[in-house]
Amino acid sequence: MKSDMKRMLADIEMEVAYTRSLIGKSKLDPRVMAAIGKVSREAFVPSDLKPFAYDNGPLPIGNGQTISQPYIVALMTDLLQPEPDHIVLEVGTGSGYQAAVLSQLVKKVFTIERIPALGDAAAVHLRSLGYSNIEYRIGNGYDGWPEHAPYDAIIVTAAASHIPPALMAQLKTGGRLVIPVGLPDMPQELMLLEKDDQGRIYTRNIIGVAFVPLQDEDNASGNNGMSR
Ligand code: SAH
Repeated sequence: MKSDMKRMLADIEMEVAYTRSLIGKSKLDPRVMAAIGKVSREAFVPSDLKPFAYDNGPLPIGNGQTISQPYIVALMTDLLQPEPDHIVLEVGTGSGYQAAVLSQLVKKVFTIERIPALGDAAAVHLRSLGYSNIEYRIGNGYDGWPEHAPYDAIIVTAAASHIPPALMAQLKTGGRLVIPVGLPDMPQELMLLEKDDQGRIYTRNIIGVAFVPLQDEDNASGNNGMSR
């Protein structure tokens, strides 16, 4: 493993330990850390920013969007409790980095991006890197991706003003949804939502975060996310 990757993993572990009282654990799932260690973050950042690819911070990826901080990617992935037979939905493909990390841990990743330039580039790029268990769609992730629902886990990588009802509907019983929630220019909270076997929803605030906003919340199709 390259030394800059080792440094990034050590930085993530340090921040996890530092935030343990908020996140409720002092170490993340070793499988999640191994997956992070296998994905070259360098391959997902613009060429002029490659020297910073392994810093534990967010970076711009064009179109006003960002690739998230590695610690946050690791934490959100851990909160999903991914398993090898899981089908996962990601809203906000962006650079494709988070999808690549998830694809190491689960059976299939479905990822939606609203900006065609980003989503199409991520699809071409991830395929060229050999990631074959990811499917792509350009569209409004507020509506989820009903055709492949329900999902074992759903991750939203842009800040919503509320939990999108379609995403709650498209979550399996026993499933987990991780989403940053907050109004534009206001503090956001990373939220974990769990749906129990009776379909009851439990939510927990994990930690303060700063994500780009989820767009088009008021421009959604208005269905309950389960129509076909
Ligand atoms: N997960 C990405 C980072 C995403 S940044 C990565 O690993 O690089 C947030 C992304 O969400 C942006 O690309 C933005 O265009 C996208 N986004 C914002 N609102 C959206 C919506 N309603 N539907 C789908 N994607 C959306």
